Amino acid sequence: METIHHQEKQQFTRLFEGEGINRIEDTLAILGVFLRNEQHISLQEFMKNLTDNGYGFEPEFVKKTLNLLCRYGFAVKTEFEGQPTRYEHRHIGFHHDHLICTKCGNILEFESHRMEDLQVEIATTHGFHVLQHKMEMYGLCSDCLKERVHLMPLGFAQEGELGIVEEFLGGSEARLRLATIGLRRGDEVRVITNSGKGQLVVAVNATRLALGRGIAKKIMVKPNGHMRKL
Ligand SMILES: [Zn+2]
Ligand SMILES: [Zn+2]
Ligand SMILES: [Zn+2]
Repeated sequence: METIHHQEKQQFTRLFEGEGINRIEDTLAILGVFLRNEQHISLQEFMKNLTDNGYGFEPEFVKKTLNLLCRYGFAVKTEFEGQPTRYEHRHIGFHHDHLICTKCGNILEFESHRMEDLQVEIATTHGFHVLQHKMEMYGLCSDCLKERVHLMPLGFAQEGELGIVEEFLGGSEARLRLATIGLRRGDEVRVITNSGKGQLVVAVNATRLALGRGIAKKIMVKPNGHMRKL
């Protein structure tokens, strides 16, 4: 990659010489830091990156420079849903698409020739000529999925089981009811009785709580072993 970066820097200098762009040195410094990065970076993250490299440029100038890099094809600007604007390094001749985790914000890249061909094929059947495309898939990354699988509704926990409260389903109304009862995220819950129907009784610290079946299904817990003694 280093040689590519070197070539890009030379190309950039050539493009800007004679274009009347001022602060060429500063622009090159920003390009240098940007090229060393192979991630999808937000302006804020990039500002920190620059600071770590000993540069103290104004955000406005950095933003302007990033847009300039986009205009000349050294960077690509991406707007993933629910995320700040991100910039990534563009390697000419290499195309990729994205998988975006809606839980942790992780961005994964993938390449599929079959998918690329299929897209052209679909467009062609509509008499459409593709100039560019974006393929973004939103969902849960493997790490987040692993965590998710380990969560279960408190209503399914057996007598004597321990669980850590991780999530409340059912929106703000359910959350409010649970807050009123005194149940919080991170609490360790012990199941005292659970017959499988009607109310179940749990304990948080030394406090016993009777929970209706409906609400117990909305409390997602991470199993945390069994009580030694009931
Ligand atoms: Zn693609
Ligand atoms: Zn994730
Ligand atoms: Zn990417």
